[in-house]
Amino acid sequence: MTTFRLPAAVLAAGLTLAQAAPSGQAPPAKPALGTFGIDTAQMDPAVKPGDDFFRYVNGKWLATATIPADKARYGMFDALRDQAETDVRALVDELGRTPAPAGSVRQKVADLYASWMDEARIEARGLEPLRPDLAAIDAATTKTELVRLMGRLEFSAPFAFGITADPAEPTRYVVTIGQAGLGMPVRDYYLSPGAKFDGYRAAYRTYVTRIFELLGDRTPAESAATVIALETKLAEAHWPAERRRDVKATNNPMDRAGLATAVPAVDWQVALEPSGLGAVTHVVLREVSAIQGGAALLDSEPLAAWKKYLAFHVADDATDQLPKAFDEASFAFHSKALRGVEVQRERWKRGIDLLDTLLGEGVGELYVAKYFPPGHKAAMDALVANLRTAMGERLKTLAWMDDKTRAEAQRKLATFEPRIGYPSKWRDYSAYTVDRTALFENVRRGRAFAWQRRVVRLGEPVDRAEWGMRPQTVNASYNASMNQLTFPAAILQPPFFDPAADPAVNYGGIGAVIGHEMGHGFDDSGRQYDEAGRIRNWWTDETSAKFVAQTDKLAAQYNAFCPLPETCVNGKLTMGENIGDLGGLEMAYTAYKLSLGGKEAPVLGGLTGDQRFFLAHAQIWRAIQRDDALRNQILTDPHAPPAARGSIPERNIDAWYTAFGVKPGDKAYLAPDARVHIW
Ligand SMILES: [Zn+2]
Repeated sequence: MTTFRLPAAVLAAGLTLAQAAPSGQAPPAKPALGTFGIDTAQMDPAVKPGDDFFRYVNGKWLATATIPADKARYGMFDALRDQAETDVRALVDELGRTPAPAGSVRQKVADLYASWMDEARIEARGLEPLRPDLAAIDAATTKTELVRLMGRLEFSAPFAFGITADPAEPTRYVVTIGQAGLGMPVRDYYLSPGAKFDGYRAAYRTYVTRIFELLGDRTPAESAATVIALETKLAEAHWPAERRRDVKATNNPMDRAGLATAVPAVDWQVALEPSGLGAVTHVVLREVSAIQGGAALLDSEPLAAWKKYLAFHVADDATDQLPKAFDEASFAFHSKALRGVEVQRERWKRGIDLLDTLLGEGVGELYVAKYFPPGHKAAMDALVANLRTAMGERLKTLAWMDDKTRAEAQRKLATFEPRIGYPSKWRDYSAYTVDRTALFENVRRGRAFAWQRRVVRLGEPVDRAEWGMRPQTVNASYNASMNQLTFPAAILQPPFFDPAADPAVNYGGIGAVIGHEMGHGFDDSGRQYDEAGRIRNWWTDETSAKFVAQTDKLAAQYNAFCPLPETCVNGKLTMGENIGDLGGLEMAYTAYKLSLGGKEAPVLGGLTGDQRFFLAHAQIWRAIQRDDALRNQILTDPHAPPAARGSIPERNIDAWYTAFGVKPGDKAYLAPDARVHIW
């Protein structure tokens, strides 16, 4: 799943947003931002658009904004997330005032939240909830017992199980086994040289030591050193983040005999049984050499070291359900040291996150009923249709694509399934029991419930109606195996989507988001899947080579974006998202022009339609970020930082040059043959 974090018929119809709004529901008269949807007061007219477009659009805001002490980043996305959080809080507060029938979703939402907020009880219970796990680790005396623990959901291991659509046959599910088991985000944190990374490693040592102290370990510093030495060896085996995006290298289907041969260091029957997978006959192994390397450590490293490892991780995983001292230690490392966050978020906000994780669709159903106007769905349907048409038109004329590949691409485009707002059927939570007085157990049962509902469906056809995102999530996604686009209700709000805003603004905002997700179907990873979601090469060699040549050029543009000393964007890791951003903006621009039906857009506030389109796009990326968080993102996240996403796509689009009079000599100027045009 790839996330955003986001023709002739239309020419004739001249379809616009306003026409798509349902009758009987008047949109608000005034847009949320400015007079037509852009916060022009935040622009910096002293900056030349051709020198630094992101700063031209957002300069005044960037110069004065501050990051809230409990955040690592702040911008448009974050403001909207705050709004969604506040909206959900209001729902939960309402539930708290009116008792719901036992066993209902409302009861579960209210009681899970209450158990989270009951800090006095969490404190009073102390380590008691964790005791059975610690005792089970203590009792292990053989490698087999160790592997059996690792097979349980609550314990960490050098491998992790997943259940997804089978890349060979996406109508059925398959069990995946992937690399796992590090306490720091990715291998670079263990292995990269330099003072910054030495600092992260020192903070991790402090954290692991502190957890052992709190667990009553007799030699906490020594135990921490053991765990970190073990994880460093595991990190050496791990694949780097960009290699994990390799569709072919991570698709290694095999039967159980093949698995036993590929990774002989693990007794897979013992490992698979505890999570209900004992009867599984075939699996997909992902990062093969990493899993082999990690599994080999089960033999080469002492059992005692692995037991320390399990004890640390089972506590690390539950710090927010344990006494405050655990929670504070976790915050000091995970949030403060790794991302620069200054203070812990208020408890209620974290409670909303927990609801999202464990009862997300239960909350989502209530959220949609209260906050999602039905008219938004209709307007989005029209916008998605326009974007699809725009991409179809562009495909027709792409010079680098031969006709055979073009026909396949058109077929894939035609079978995209857009999903807007909320799922067509809501998740059934009846098998999940929530107890108002037992947070730790609520979390355990919630995770087990989520896993078990996947396990029982292993033999059934893939459920295409299922959503991976929640309606209250400010994001969007594309799933290559399903060829589905998903736009949750919460992103269908200003500044992305505002029925009262000028159409240029909506095309530059949510239009670019829609185009981005469509672009994922045709990015370096998505293009390897066909219209049915199968991994199949539908490209001729010649067209494929031309695609790669263009994307290499694009990667070079991002590699040259270095927001911190010695820290540049990884063009390979971010390739899929960058193709999505560039293609999305091109498609949205084409759709906007088609929507005008050959007419000139009006000038508003002295700005042309084209200018408003690009301004709206750079506006949605308005954000500032802490340095540690930025470094973390660049190492771990396939999305480039906001300042890159709100400026590099523009540099490749000819219409942007015309709209803002960008000329040779301007800092962001690219000669026409240096611009990348993919979709
Ligand atoms: Zn994306």
